[in-house]
Amino acid sequence: MAKKKILIVEDNEQNMELFRDLLESHGYVVIEATEGETAINKISQEMPDLILMDIQLPKIDGVEITRRVRENPSLNNIKIIAITAHAMKGDRETFLESGFNDYVSKPIDINSLLQTIAQHLKETESRDCGSC
Ligand code: MN
Repeated sequence: MAKKKILIVEDNEQNMELFRDLLESHGYVVIEATEGETAINKISQEMPDLILMDIQLPKIDGVEITRRVRENPSLNNIKIIAITAHAMKGDRETFLESGFNDYVSKPIDINSLLQTIAQHLKETESRDCGSC
């Protein structure tokens, strides 16, 4: 089975390193973007299976990037998980309405992050397999 490709959009170098090491050590192919324009270009060029999206980014924030991705029907299968420092009541609904599939809050719990990622990639797989 082909390795799943994950795009990490994160402007904090330490977080980027943490996520990259974690995901690579769990067998994912990782690509990176530290701001919105690069992220948007890489999303259409690389077609990742899943995006880990920091919300607070310079210039274009993660919500806006996600909104733009969701305007493009050919990118609809890409799962997008928000990473946010602002876990407040009601946020989950707000994120889902903005086009995210899920969210995890900082500080990141590694096990629940890996579990959330695996769960959404599994959904992708079973849908791809609709005719088998
Ligand atoms: Mn940030």
